[in-house]
Amino acid sequence: MIISVASGKGGTGKTLVATNLALTLSGKSKVQLLDCDVEEPNVHIFLHSPMNQSQPVFIPIPKVDEAKCTYCGKCAEVCAYNAIAVVKNKVLVFPELCHGCGACSYLCPESAISEEGREIGVVERASLGNLEFVQGRLTVGEAMAPPIIREVKGHIDPTSMVIIDVSPGSSCPVVEAVKGSDFCLLVTEPTPFGLSDLSLAVEVMRKLDIPCGVVINRDGVGDDKVESYCQEQGIPILLKIPLDRNIATLYSKGVPLIEGMPQWHKSFLRLFQDIEGILTSQVAK
Ligand code: SF4
Ligand code: SF4
Repeated sequence: MIISVASGKGGTGKTLVATNLALTLSGKSKVQLLDCDVEEPNVHIFLHSPMNQSQPVFIPIPKVDEAKCTYCGKCAEVCAYNAIAVVKNKVLVFPELCHGCGACSYLCPESAISEEGREIGVVERASLGNLEFVQGRLTVGEAMAPPIIREVKGHIDPTSMVIIDVSPGSSCPVVEAVKGSDFCLLVTEPTPFGLSDLSLAVEVMRKLDIPCGVVINRDGVGDDKVESYCQEQGIPILLKIPLDRNIATLYSKGVPLIEGMPQWHKSFLRLFQDIEGILTSQVAK
């Protein structure tokens, strides 16, 4: 089963939920925790484990053989990202804009374009007993998160329970990370901003046809509009984490909630059982 943990906006406690859910489940079975928030991966802060494997991620960018090039301009025409331009007798490639789609080399009539790899980040792995941790890290200044996310997800073991920490928002990296999930937990806080971003995230999940449920973090901080929205939309609220100084202190020290306050173990186990229940009832329909 693949459960992704997403949130419409940053700082809602998505990593807290993903990490504690994975640690809880790893007490009994094999779990993979994938940090697909590749622009700012921070699951590692809570695992305190050195990464024992690291592999670079490359995207293929065009390399033009000027001896073969006729400067016909076809490559610039087909590039949807303005990453290649033909000016007089020169072909210019802008690597930071290139998505590595290969269209220019495929369509060059003179076969003047070959491809070379450009490193955009790394995928790192660590093992902690039953828990396998995989994280992607996009190099600072790079913009292309999806290829790193795909690389992280390439490590998914179908025999394992998989928890994915998704980047905040509702853009391409989110879609790439949640694609293929059986269920998505949307973490939010009970504020007008939380509600606004939650409703965008719900739309994305509906478009992708991924069932979802909500976790309300810092419960008590705002109003009850998130609860009313979930009720209207038929979205189950599966867990509430109160606004609590002790929880905030543990988080700021990088201590997982279930370690610092073991009574939460039961709540995360129940969260998982509720997800299982929802998925089972959907199959039965
Ligand atoms: S499509 Fe090929 S031949 Fe035409 S300008 Fe681009 S590299 Fe040169
Ligand atoms: S590989 Fe794709 S994105 Fe990159 S320059 Fe060629 S057409 Fe543009």
